[in-house]
Amino acid sequence: MTAPKLVAGNWKMNGRMVHLEEALGIATASAAAGDEVDVLLCPPATLLAPMASALTGSNTFVGGQDCHANQSGAHTGEVSAAMLVDAGASHVILGHSERRRDHHEGSADIAAKVQAAWSEGLVAILCIGETEAERDAGSTLTVLAEQLSASLPEGATPENTVIAYEPVWAIGTGRTPSVAQITEAHAAIRAHVPAGIRLLYGGSVTPQNAAAIFATDNVDGALVGGASLKAEDFTPIIDALK
Ligand code: PEP
Repeated sequence: MTAPKLVAGNWKMNGRMVHLEEALGIATASAAAGDEVDVLLCPPATLLAPMASALTGSNTFVGGQDCHANQSGAHTGEVSAAMLVDAGASHVILGHSERRRDHHEGSADIAAKVQAAWSEGLVAILCIGETEAERDAGSTLTVLAEQLSASLPEGATPENTVIAYEPVWAIGTGRTPSVAQITEAHAAIRAHVPAGIRLLYGGSVTPQNAAAIFATDNVDGALVGGASLKAEDFTPIIDALK
């Protein structure tokens, strides 16, 4: 059986208790999408447990935005994979370009986090993507292959891993690659990962462009930032995947 499509919302450092209302609205859209689409919300760590609790009984998954590679210890400010599980998470985003940029995470760090996530039973959503300079230099496919080789450990399966192709230059900019560029990148990623692993596109997905992106070969859903914060924006993206 093929896995359902997946639309995941990355709330980044946005969301207070008051915004649980949006999550409930998104859960309604998720329920309407039924078994065809998995819906996942990744709020800030402070909102994980209350969101998981508010969404109990719904079919919307809740996930973290990062985890530490270690299980516990002297790592001030960090959250382990087991702690995400305690809070109700089933997935975790790893290797997001904002983590690579702001926290200097390299592929080896990310691979260790993927292992930590797997060891706690979390689904790792591994983000990869080229910078604008890398695309301009014609090295997009090389960069994607290098990132996959170095940050995805042996043992990836459709059950424990999702890959998100997120061109760095498309995140939060309102710019998206052409359908041909997404097709090329996703075909290359598909060739590098075990069969059946879901491939998401991420970077400035909106209600307006979602249908065209979802119609692209090898696109199994989306990782959505800004447009996942409000139910009125996220709902049509979920609907476009049905
Ligand atoms: C993201 O940060 O993963 C993302 C895709 O953001 P946006 O949709 O806002 O470009």
